[in-house]
Amino acid sequence: MLKHHSEIILEELAEGTGAGISLSQVSGGLQTGLDIWFSDLKKSAGPVVELRAHGLKSHQVDLRFGMYSKDTLKLIAEAPAEDQLLARSLVSSISPNAKLSIGGQTTDTWQVLDGTFGMSARLKHHQGSNNADAAIKTSREVIVPMMAAMAELIGYDVNEPENPSGEMEGALTTVEVVRRERNPRNRLLCLRLHGHVCKCCGISPSKTYGEAGKIIEVHHIQPLSTLGQPRQYNPLSDLIPLCPNCHRAVHTKRPSPHLVSELQAIMSSDV
Ligand SMILES: [Zn+2]
Ligand SMILES: [Zn+2]
Repeated sequence: MLKHHSEIILEELAEGTGAGISLSQVSGGLQTGLDIWFSDLKKSAGPVVELRAHGLKSHQVDLRFGMYSKDTLKLIAEAPAEDQLLARSLVSSISPNAKLSIGGQTTDTWQVLDGTFGMSARLKHHQGSNNADAAIKTSREVIVPMMAAMAELIGYDVNEPENPSGEMEGALTTVEVVRRERNPRNRLLCLRLHGHVCKCCGISPSKTYGEAGKIIEVHHIQPLSTLGQPRQYNPLSDLIPLCPNCHRAVHTKRPSPHLVSELQAIMSSDV
């Protein structure tokens, strides 16, 4: 039963969206399913994802808005262009094996225009739909990016740790860069696209340290301030995963950090 996997689904979602998540069991017909929504909104006041088994081996995921979502829809309508770009990129990162439909809209241009907005996906598994691995896969491949996209549009804040790494203080653009590097949705997208591997030294902390290896960091390649006109930020190409060592090392150069190629050149020379 899907409800047996609630814990793992909640954990994945909280990490990926950076927001509190609530979940309840719904029964309808023969199959029971799960409803998933943001804890700080009433279930009827924002997006709700319903996950249920479809046949023996597939999961059906449907996102829709509750009847009283007016205020949430207003927030979404006011989302900055950058947040919309990130939200679309997150949805585009949904597994191509999941048949995704966005109410007739395309993955490149979709917008939440009103409360009739919805998205659906169906993912077929090799195992039965009640299997734990299948539930984890559907969460990671479909529900997490869908909910993370909504969290970005609604504008859930990034929880700022007490003491940001002191090495980076001082540069003009630091606040913006740090914000992007700490944003859980940027992190999620970056790791989905590039994998959990350091782009500089090639180490994969989760392979080396197992469960203790969730330490890979996300680095924002800053536009060179000397160019005068800053490029527009693009989460797809401007964020790369780095291990904590390489990340500290690139930021020893300020205000613009070392390029990965520069650091690699230093690493391969005898210093
Ligand atoms: Zn590294
Ligand atoms: Zn960085």
